[in-house]
Amino acid sequence: MKTSVILHSLFSEFSMEQLKGIMDLAERYNGKLRVVVTGIQIYDIEKEDKPAILTALPEGVYPVKHNAVNSVVACRGTDGCSHAFMQTIPLGKAIDTNYFGEEMPNKIRIGISGCTRCCAESMIKDIGVYGLPDGFVLVAGGKSGNRPKGGEVLLKGLSPEEAETKIAELLSWYKANALPKEKFDHCLERLGNPFSE
Ligand code: SF4
Repeated sequence: MKTSVILHSLFSEFSMEQLKGIMDLAERYNGKLRVVVTGIQIYDIEKEDKPAILTALPEGVYPVKHNAVNSVVACRGTDGCSHAFMQTIPLGKAIDTNYFGEEMPNKIRIGISGCTRCCAESMIKDIGVYGLPDGFVLVAGGKSGNRPKGGEVLLKGLSPEEAETKIAELLSWYKANALPKEKFDHCLERLGNPFSE
């Protein structure tokens, strides 16, 4: 039976060595490669080969887990975009380093954008921020799928440090309060904004 594995590296940036290692594995196990929103997918592999692939991943490359923080995406922000109000790369790397792969009641996707154009799709992630001249806006509960929904604004005017802290608090809140397998947006709908007074 055929299966696949999706691979992640810090901030979705793969070094040449990591890419070569992934290509070698795909070739060795007769797999094919695709770029997907959560990373690089090796697909068309035999199910019984998957454990061997997972034990031979290049350093710094990890499989994406379903019930976990499984995607952290950031745009270039002030480090590469003239529209940006806020710097996004350090925040994205900090969130990715500290929380990618952390187990959750259901999957969590995080988007970090430097302005309201939301190129990191912050408004349709479980948790997102976008930049304004006076700081980050924290949004949550967005989703894509067949019934897409924009996230709810939870907080405004956050510094990058405050945004990191509030994202961490939201993840802890979700873990502590969600019903088994409850999706983030359902949990937020049921309990309301955890930062409201
Ligand atoms: S979200 Fe804004 S800052 Fe980020 S890449 Fe898009 S236009 Fe630039």
